Amino acid sequence: MDQKKRRPLIAGNWKMHEVNAEAIAFMKAFTPMLKKKGRDVVIIPPFTCLEDVGKSIRPGSAVHLGAQDLFYEKQGAFTGEISGDMLRALGCEYVIVGHSERRHYFKEGDGIINKKLRAALYHSLIPILCVGEDLRQREEGLQKDVVERQIRHGLAGLSVAEAKEISIAYEPVWAIGTGKNATPKQAGEMHAFIRKTVAAIFGKTVSEGMRMLYGGSVKPDNVKELMSQKDIDGVLVGGASLDPKSFAKIANF
Ligand code: PEP
Repeated sequence: MDQKKRRPLIAGNWKMHEVNAEAIAFMKAFTPMLKKKGRDVVIIPPFTCLEDVGKSIRPGSAVHLGAQDLFYEKQGAFTGEISGDMLRALGCEYVIVGHSERRHYFKEGDGIINKKLRAALYHSLIPILCVGEDLRQREEGLQKDVVERQIRHGLAGLSVAEAKEISIAYEPVWAIGTGKNATPKQAGEMHAFIRKTVAAIFGKTVSEGMRMLYGGSVKPDNVKELMSQKDIDGVLVGGASLDPKSFAKIANF
């Protein structure tokens, strides 16, 4: 299957930005600027804005709601955490799992990430599993080892049917929020490697059908070249997704 057969997925992770009024204003400005059809756009605001952003999405439109994280337990005494059920009730369809900021600041290891991924699938949320090496690992040439380990552990125990439901975002940590993006060639190479790794675990049908996103300083002026890479099916955007104009330009690449 070539790239054209995988529907592009453009996701904007707002991280810890925007209060409700700002989120509503964003949606009001952003929605009419979306012009291109045949692709999915996911808005991933903080938990506090999920309800308002969800209400701004027209049912049946190509815009979807996503969350930045979830907890793996169904419910219980877990102060401060949020469950898959709660996200579903707000209209979420997607959830990021294993973002590098969760791995780094909150010490989430592959075991926890695997549990979260399974919880997402249990609640019929589409997990976007983030993987990627840091600068030291890249300088030491360890990027493929790191990413393969994150994929094998992150997806451990999944059935073929479950693996079909997920997306993977390759986000080299050294390119996140730094303005330093991987070259399309570097990103393309890693995506090809990820597709090969997924094929080795779950078979070619899963790997060829899986949407794989690139993340790391994606901007309106570099999205097209990244998206022209054979194995890049979408982008996960941080900073540039906070401005409706720039995110619309990215989504309309
Ligand atoms: C991200 O945090 O997932 C990200 C890619 O951020 P940025 O686009 O700001 O580099």
